[in-house]
Amino acid sequence: MIKKIFYYATVAVLLTATVFYSKNNNKPKNIILLIGDGMGLSQVSISAISMQNDQFKKFLSVGLVNTCSADKLITDSAAGATAYATGYRTKNGMISIDENGKVLETITEIANKKKIATGIIATSSITNATPAAFISHNGTRKEEYGIADQIVKCGVDVLLGAGTDFFLPKDKGGKRDDKKNLIDSMKSVGYEYISNPSLLKEKLPSKKFFGLFGSLALPHAKERDYSLGFLTDKAIEHLSKNKNGFFLMVEGSQMDWAADQNDKDYLFGELRDFNSAVEAALKFAEKDNNTLVIVLADHDTGSLGISGKNKESGELDVVWATKFHTANLVGIFSYGPGSEMFRGIQDNYIIGRKLINFINPSASWK
Ligand SMILES: [Zn+2]
Repeated sequence: MIKKIFYYATVAVLLTATVFYSKNNNKPKNIILLIGDGMGLSQVSISAISMQNDQFKKFLSVGLVNTCSADKLITDSAAGATAYATGYRTKNGMISIDENGKVLETITEIANKKKIATGIIATSSITNATPAAFISHNGTRKEEYGIADQIVKCGVDVLLGAGTDFFLPKDKGGKRDDKKNLIDSMKSVGYEYISNPSLLKEKLPSKKFFGLFGSLALPHAKERDYSLGFLTDKAIEHLSKNKNGFFLMVEGSQMDWAADQNDKDYLFGELRDFNSAVEAALKFAEKDNNTLVIVLADHDTGSLGISGKNKESGELDVVWATKFHTANLVGIFSYGPGSEMFRGIQDNYIIGRKLINFINPSASWK
């Protein structure tokens, strides 16, 4: 009897594993993952109800994600991004390293090995927790100088964001004490450096490129003369030339910071800007027909409620429950081949596993 129970339990586990992670008959060639940092369901509701450039209503595949980390009900951005980047939950503060200090291979590293082109874009420093989890490994998110050192060797084809503080020595306008000039190091490993986004309007580099457009973050969306959508579009234009396909992660980093400050105008500006990136991804995917677009958040921040509407401006009024992250489920919106796998309620690390299994169908999970 015990033997029989064991047999059925084993079969059940195997069946679950097979059905859950390896059903890749609808495998996309390209994956674009757009992460709204702190973009809870309230933020999505604000976009869908009131924003002219809202993209969320275009998605037919919709689900929910439980964002808990390995040690906390409420995740931080490091553990939140690690779940998506590696397929494993870790402790808050850790960057693509597990609870025992073991390095977790990232989707970006797996894609590089498979000769799939890769890109990372953020409106924060590219050393900040979310992008860092896709391009480095560290026991703590606070070691942004060390994370920058690792980024030089990450092999990603397109890197766009901010972070000159961590890439340049003090006498060149950065904050590094060790006198290293990592922009020069990046050039020496084959990158073209883009010092200003307007250069991308003139001519797209033929080789891999990276751009840092701020010391710690890009200017607020409202103060920029370029959008996250523009950067996304340029990255796609470059990456889509690769015949093996591409993986691109785009983060709207500052929605979280706006919610931390309970600053509605700042949040709305960043949310519109994030929509521009989703629009660029969907435009490409609709034309290409072989691209999976996933839009989600690492966690909710602020848990705000829509409380009314300004009669004159038509803008929504909101009330904030907190200045911190919450454990509220977040939305996941998917389009393209494989999108049906992201419906229902799922744990964050399962999303990471499914994405990795598109790139490496034989990846197995503990
Ligand atoms: Zn976050």
